[in-house]
Amino acid sequence: MNKKRPFAYLLVVSSVLALLAVVLLSLKKPQKTVLYGRILMGTAVEITLKQDNPRAVEAAFKEIERLEKVFSSYIPDSEISRISKGAGKEGIKVSAEVVEVVLAGLKVSRLSKGAFDPTVGVLFGKEGVWDFSGEKNNVPKRKEILRLLRLVDYRDVIVNKDTSIVGLKKRGMRLDLGGVAKGYIVGRAMEVLKKHGIEWAIIRAGGDMMVYSSKGNAPPFTIGIQHPRKEGELLGKIRVANRAVATSGDYERSFIKDGIRYHHIIDPKTGYPADKCRSVTVVSEDPTLADALSTAAFVMGPEKGMELIERLAGVEGIIVDREGGVGVSSGLKAHFERL
Ligand code: AMP
Ligand code: MG
Repeated sequence: MNKKRPFAYLLVVSSVLALLAVVLLSLKKPQKTVLYGRILMGTAVEITLKQDNPRAVEAAFKEIERLEKVFSSYIPDSEISRISKGAGKEGIKVSAEVVEVVLAGLKVSRLSKGAFDPTVGVLFGKEGVWDFSGEKNNVPKRKEILRLLRLVDYRDVIVNKDTSIVGLKKRGMRLDLGGVAKGYIVGRAMEVLKKHGIEWAIIRAGGDMMVYSSKGNAPPFTIGIQHPRKEGELLGKIRVANRAVATSGDYERSFIKDGIRYHHIIDPKTGYPADKCRSVTVVSEDPTLADALSTAAFVMGPEKGMELIERLAGVEGIIVDREGGVGVSSGLKAHFERL
């Protein structure tokens, strides 16, 4: 009897150890995820889940498709295009979601003192002078830029929240929500996933991304920040939970002519591509705000841009200046790893 006891004891201990090893091994194993990708809004949109749910993913992609038709300034009969067509003549009755995004954009216009300006789109598009689609690579004449610059002023966007009417004061003005709508749309797609009971998801649309876990802040997601000069390489990693992460970069939609890089983020003061940064990443709970702020801070530059990020509660960011210097906001430093 006495001899049997230690044997039984050993058996229990060893099986507990074996079980522990299995648990530890399975914890070390990378979590399996499912990734869905589609080209929408002129960019690669990816949805990643831990537990496959094709119906939820389909519904989220459908929502993105629907909202793209509402917000695109390239689709002739979108609500945004109709606002531009009515410029100087009439305001247009639009959906509540358009009012919401226009107001969110104008709020960032005021915060950034016009560095973010949703009327800057008159400089590109059909009648514009810049084209970053990769087709023309034309640098317009200063005179042409100045002629159109007179039509750029966010204070000339008129919004009546009660009647849902949005209008532009001057004939020839154009509304472009390209710097803010993608963030909003990613946020809406995440809401669709949540409604389908999804408990863990990443949505990414070009530079706009959002991560969600029903477990709240733990465990956080590790997100790679694209290196603005080394394609496919990371500048660093951040650890965040339930946040939107928006990056604006001069490497997206750009061309180089006579050694100068021309890209799609325009300084509304000059009409030329903003040249103080290589990239700006903004982290916030609000995907619409993150998107608009990343564009705004890019135009403002590393000092003023970081000042704005630091001033806003719940907003963090990373700014890569034109020399490649990296600035990280105070609340993000402990969660940022330079690679
Ligand atoms: P993002 O990638 O979010 O920085 O957005 C860039 C897009 O925003 C451009 O392709 C334009 O459609 C638009 N945009 C460019 N410059 C500005 C600006 N200064 N303010 C607001 N939107 C802008
Ligand atoms: Mg943006």
